[in-house]
Amino acid sequence: MLTHNLGYPRIGRRRELKEACERYWAGESTLEELLSVGQTLRRSHWLTQREAGLDLIPCNDFSYYDHVLDMSQMVGAIPPRYAPLAGLPAMDLAFAMARGYQKDGHDLIAMEMTKWFDTNYHYLVPEFHKAQTFTVQSSKALDEFLEAKALGMNAKPVLLGPVSYLMLGKEKEGGFHRLQLLERLLPVYAELMRDLFEAGAEFVQVDEPFLSLDLEENVVEAYRTAYRELKRGVPGIRIILTSYFDGLRNNIPLAVHLPVHTVHLDLQRAPEQLEEVLAAAPEELCFSLGVVDGRNIWRNDFSASLALIRKAIDAVGSSRLMIAPSCSLLHVPYDTALESGGGALPEVVLEWLAFARQKVGEVCDIAYLASSPGSPEAALRLAENALVVQRRRSSPLLHNEGLEERLADVAPRDLRRESSFEVRSRKQAAALNLPLFPTTTIGSFPQTTELRRLRNRLRKGEIDIESYREAIEAEIVAAVRWQEEAGIDVLVHGEFERADMVEYFGRKLDGCGFTAHGWVQSYGSRCVKPPVIYGDVVRKGAMTVRWSDFARCLTRKPMKGMLTGPVTILQWSFARDDQPRRETARQLALAIRDEVRDLERAGLKIIQIDEPAFREGMPLRKGSREEYLSWAVEAFRLASSGVRDETQIHTHMCYSEFNDIMPEIAALDADVITIETSRSQMELLEAFNTFRYPNAIGPGVFDVHTPRVPTVEEMVTLLRRALSYVPKERLWVNPDCGLKTRRWEETKAALSNMVAAARILREEGGEGEVEQEEMPAASGSAPCK
Ligand code: GLN
Ligand code: ZN
Repeated sequence: MLTHNLGYPRIGRRRELKEACERYWAGESTLEELLSVGQTLRRSHWLTQREAGLDLIPCNDFSYYDHVLDMSQMVGAIPPRYAPLAGLPAMDLAFAMARGYQKDGHDLIAMEMTKWFDTNYHYLVPEFHKAQTFTVQSSKALDEFLEAKALGMNAKPVLLGPVSYLMLGKEKEGGFHRLQLLERLLPVYAELMRDLFEAGAEFVQVDEPFLSLDLEENVVEAYRTAYRELKRGVPGIRIILTSYFDGLRNNIPLAVHLPVHTVHLDLQRAPEQLEEVLAAAPEELCFSLGVVDGRNIWRNDFSASLALIRKAIDAVGSSRLMIAPSCSLLHVPYDTALESGGGALPEVVLEWLAFARQKVGEVCDIAYLASSPGSPEAALRLAENALVVQRRRSSPLLHNEGLEERLADVAPRDLRRESSFEVRSRKQAAALNLPLFPTTTIGSFPQTTELRRLRNRLRKGEIDIESYREAIEAEIVAAVRWQEEAGIDVLVHGEFERADMVEYFGRKLDGCGFTAHGWVQSYGSRCVKPPVIYGDVVRKGAMTVRWSDFARCLTRKPMKGMLTGPVTILQWSFARDDQPRRETARQLALAIRDEVRDLERAGLKIIQIDEPAFREGMPLRKGSREEYLSWAVEAFRLASSGVRDETQIHTHMCYSEFNDIMPEIAALDADVITIETSRSQMELLEAFNTFRYPNAIGPGVFDVHTPRVPTVEEMVTLLRRALSYVPKERLWVNPDCGLKTRRWEETKAALSNMVAAARILREEGGEGEVEQEEMPAASGSAPCK
């Protein structure tokens, strides 16, 4: 049985790629230096995988920014607005597409970015025009294959499949469907694959994750055409067709009859599909069994994997099988060996974990166990694995005394605000005294180098907690003063004390640990370090009150308390796999509910509970969505409903398409939602043609993921568009997301323009501006020292 891997992380064991890209963007290094960091990383990834004993080593899984962007470049799908940049090196053009380009008299916006299926990885959305043509415009796939081959690797190029590539994109004009471009795209794919074949590639992995989704008939047809044509174009190459993140389900007959060599199955998400697939498959088809979880960090339970593999061997024999992780390992950190010391995971939890390097080892171990059952060495490895699995299962760290009773006491009234939105909003208007089109931000302000240095010094013990706190307080004071000067209506403290919106809470919850180097790529050079939820989650004490209350006392304007919601904490953590996700969500919700009440008690009149991952947690298949949405909505409501009518609850969502879950978003019953829309020009609001969003909404008026400063006119235009969908009394003005990745210069310029835009709208609305200076002192709040 051959072993292979669908993809390795790219960012570097020590995030070398992040650092190299950021230095290059800042003009601190040359393109050659950047390219050489990339080369070193690829080499080290290949060597690691070969040393583990892996048979087929993935190549072209590497990317300097994003593999979908790379695919657009490979097939020459460069949006026309970048035509003036045609003279730039390919890498600079790619970065311009990813990050926008505002230099040398150009002002080009970035491509839209969105989530890769149900992960926290973001890809750049391909843009298609009716007259779209394709040509091979980059030899990246071939170059990386030759590079691996030169190092003696048995390399297997990875390509994003043509149907999924088109499906991931968007039509930029009416009058056609992007799948109609398939015919023009396929010759380019055939050319790419032929080049690889002629260079010596025996296998090519073609990723078609859309096969795990519900498909319309035109997509099914596209699959048949695509693989028939590729077979005809490059008959010799062996295609490993992969899909992941769910089962093939009703696409089984389609997938197993495509003319490919091997079909990969995600047996982590959908082990139940195995029998049906095996039964449906034609004689000669081979299978890649994805038994090692590519989406989570728990050690594999060998006996469970072996049971699946045995089933497959019985049905088709071992010569038609390959062993693999369930999906690319892009979604897990590098190596548990980096974790001894430095993180905050109980020692015993460490042995429960497997990161990318360990997972490749597990794939090889499992293949070995399956092919040499009964050997003494196999027996030993199996016994060792069983022991760890058993130790985890019976660990006292999993249980928290008393939590079960508290959860059992949750009653329906705990999931409802006291009054309806209409009643609440009147009381809130009286308490808050906000102008029409209130301006606010999403929470974070720039995380400067000084701030990061400060945190590092605290970690190393070079400064004490008191001086750290003083420095954070100074940042908060400056941010509050600046917001007042800029004329923003609802202020935030800036989240300077948080390196990450989920990790910050993870550190303050029992049952949660965090790693020292467990970084996972989120987009481009941005990484996150998901907490590890290994046991029952319980709040140890107030988590944010100190900072929010400090900020509240600095100003007469309303201050928002900022929390991360239960669904997002769950989604952006490595969650335990020994209980249903809904259970963990409920535990998290209870912890956040306690924090919300503490903030209210401290005098915060507005509390925002961020749920940017609400949509991404949704199952990919329609049939599984209802169940998810019901527990996710319930978790948010449990977290947010414990406050008085006068307290205004905000939520925030970004980076997904929300049109299809508007009713569920409404069911959260937040008083205000701030939501990302600017990159897609307020497309989201079109959903309001069929669904009336009942509460207040702040559709983002500028994109925070590029350094480009939006103009006042642009934002006025977006707001006017929003006004045709949202009544003016319920429209808020805010950016798409938090500003932590921006520099202060850009932030100040953008927010000043945003305030100016809101003022223009107020004038147009004939309402004039409410005099903020005259605002009565907040009543009923706790006194400030
Ligand atoms: N409050 C968070 C921030 O501003 C929200 C971030 C997010 O939605 N991803 O950083
Ligand atoms: Zn956001």
